[in-house]
Amino acid sequence: MALKLDIPVEMAVRHGIPTKMSDAEFALLESDPPPWLVQSRANRSPKARPVWVELKCVVCGFTEAARPKKWWPAFTYLTCAHHAIGEVPDPAEGLYRSEVDGIGSRFIGIVDSAS
Ligand SMILES: [Zn+2]
Repeated sequence: MALKLDIPVEMAVRHGIPTKMSDAEFALLESDPPPWLVQSRANRSPKARPVWVELKCVVCGFTEAARPKKWWPAFTYLTCAHHAIGEVPDPAEGLYRSEVDGIGSRFIGIVDSAS
């Protein structure tokens, strides 16, 4: 049943999904999926946050694959830590710039925002 629902077996067990289910029971579950099932599928859908992202330096083009962290804001630019800040394009007018250290193995995240 876990396979049919496209969820891990442990998850099915944890949520009390029987290992055998009639088509009618299955249809009922499908017609009104519990929140944990919806959440599980959202996490697995192609639209969900990718497991790996490509970090790319705006100055030299160096790239690195990294697992995105939950605390990462939306970066305007990424740059290697060893570049001078002057090498990064200036923020658009009226935007404030902040920097986030420690992105991937060698990047600084640049965030330009209106506040
Ligand atoms: Zn670089």
